[in-house]
Amino acid sequence: MSFSLELTEEHRDLRDWVHGFAVKEIRPAAAEWDEREETPWPVISEAARIGLYGFETLATFWADETGLSLPIVNEELFWGDGGIGMAIFGTTLAVAGIFASGTPDQLAEWVPQCYGDADDPKVAAFCSSEPDAGSDVAAMRTRAVYDEATDEWVLNGQKAWATNGGIANVHVVQAVVDPELGPKGQAAFVVPPGTPGLSSPSKIRKHGLRASHTADVYLDDVRVPGRCLLGGKEKLDERLARAREGGRSSSQAMRTFELSRPTVGAQALGIARAAYEQALEYAGQRETFGRPIIDNQGVAFTLADMRTEIDAARLLVWRAAWMGRNEVPFEAGEGSMSKLKAGRVATWVTERAVQILGGNGYTREYPVERMHRDAKIYDIFEGTEQIQQLVVARAVSGRHIP
Ligand SMILES: Cc1cc2nc3c(=O)[nH]c(=O)nc-3n(C[C@H](O)[C@H](O)[C@H](O)COP(=O)(O)OP(=O)(O)OC[C@H]3O[C@@H](n4cnc5c(N)ncnc54)[C@H](O)[C@@H]3O)c2cc1C
Repeated sequence: MSFSLELTEEHRDLRDWVHGFAVKEIRPAAAEWDEREETPWPVISEAARIGLYGFETLATFWADETGLSLPIVNEELFWGDGGIGMAIFGTTLAVAGIFASGTPDQLAEWVPQCYGDADDPKVAAFCSSEPDAGSDVAAMRTRAVYDEATDEWVLNGQKAWATNGGIANVHVVQAVVDPELGPKGQAAFVVPPGTPGLSSPSKIRKHGLRASHTADVYLDDVRVPGRCLLGGKEKLDERLARAREGGRSSSQAMRTFELSRPTVGAQALGIARAAYEQALEYAGQRETFGRPIIDNQGVAFTLADMRTEIDAARLLVWRAAWMGRNEVPFEAGEGSMSKLKAGRVATWVTERAVQILGGNGYTREYPVERMHRDAKIYDIFEGTEQIQQLVVARAVSGRHIP
């Protein structure tokens, strides 16, 4: 039995390939798309053209039994830029939603439509949060009612803050099918392209990740065919029956998040590493009192702590990614732990990077200002800092901490 934390040649090649794309295509475009607050379609198209964006690519990353391909790719993309990284990778959350509960036929039908093709790339959206149901998933109000006469589901409600909401080809929508059962009474639906009744009148203006489209999505008598219920009706009926008898079954939204949290942690890491590298370089060049600022312990030790925190977070992310890929149970909430740590590290490291760059760090002339804005979301989405703490606390204590 051997153990090694050294990346394989394949992993190093993958990392260098994505890094090259980040250097050539993402970094030069980052400030512009952040200012425009628009989806960077030319960069997505280029990613699709070289085979970095598409369902076959995602399948290759997922096939890696070490689980490391996804975090490696995400760290490099988001090292390039958080907003553009999310514009490229936001689709994956919807795909994870389909993957978490879809049948093989549903995967084959919908996942390719999430991405489109290299000549005409598309994006997808995962719509779980609502204005009054972010952390509190049980408060979800969007309803799905089955119309037996037509074998259709009818969806009504409002979804909030959906990445790619309204511009997506495929929307994956979480809705309540049995209000009595709380989160266990929810199911996920695919809303196919061009379905009447789904609308998204305006996008939301944000603090960071501004090249990634975020919007509320309204569902007004949206009718989808029976086959759009992920997992199928028979499985749903069985699951609801078990829940009514008080049996165990985790919510589908929760399962999606468990799968995606280490990858999201890797995104935070990419932003943190980018800011750390900029601060390290600047500290070696900027002189005050006749010497480079890095020659002060106050600055050098901060850089040492930044690097230490980034490396520690990466180990947690890689561990959780390996566990998730190999179905090792997250007995101590390791998926949440990795995202909790990486989000905090990104927020702290980018703030320290602004500090090390002084006045320059606070201006849009230097990218750490954007990185600082981009990083904060990692304490908020895919479960806030406190929700990750709750998951870990419940897992390690074995108690239902409210
Ligand atoms: C840019 C962006 C992109 C997003 N993308 C998506 C997406 O694609 N799909 C999607 O479904 N959602 C998405 N979201 C929504 C995101 O997941 C939610 O904003 C997040 O889950 C927090 O929910 P909330 O905003 O309602 O905060 P709230 O739940 O109202 O929380 C507010 C504060 O209270 C704290 N809090 C709440 N409950 C507790 C508790 N029990 N104990 C301690 N503290 C608590 C929280 O930690 C937080 O600090 C996105 C949000 C943003 C900003």
